[in-house]
Amino acid sequence: MMDELYREVVLDHHRSPRGASALDNFDVQASGKNPSCGDEVTLQVRFDADTIAAVGVLSRGCAISTASGSMMAEVIEGLTVDQAQEVADRFKAVMHGGEFPVDVDLGDLEALEGVKQFPVRIKCALLPWVTLLDAMLAHHQGREPDTISTEGLRDDAEPMNVTLEDRR
Ligand code: ZN
Repeated sequence: MMDELYREVVLDHHRSPRGASALDNFDVQASGKNPSCGDEVTLQVRFDADTIAAVGVLSRGCAISTASGSMMAEVIEGLTVDQAQEVADRFKAVMHGGEFPVDVDLGDLEALEGVKQFPVRIKCALLPWVTLLDAMLAHHQGREPDTISTEGLRDDAEPMNVTLEDRR
């Protein structure tokens, strides 16, 4: 089981996280925490109109949370906000037991699919993504992002239901 959870690609992202440098300038900075594991992430995003031009993912936490943030940095740079939301939604669906999508490129996130067998770790994998969703929403609304906490979010079919739609 641990072999599956900590696959080599996950460890590689954990040891050498992509997008882990602070940005010189950014449009929005958001932070999230996962108290059940102690994971924290600070996320910086610079937009070019509606496109994510650059992202800084500053993680402190377990291998799953830092790897997920690293994979997120790789996948979302260059995407539009809508495309990034689509990726986030699809990844959340996988974590909640869905099949891995074949029509959306989730990059190395495939390596995290085994996490869905470990409900307590799903929040680790989703932390950077729910933080991203609130960062994009806050930018859209012209407000400061909330500090996102996974605490109180449920482990069942509808946890972390942070989407651009339902909070708009
Ligand atoms: Zn964790």
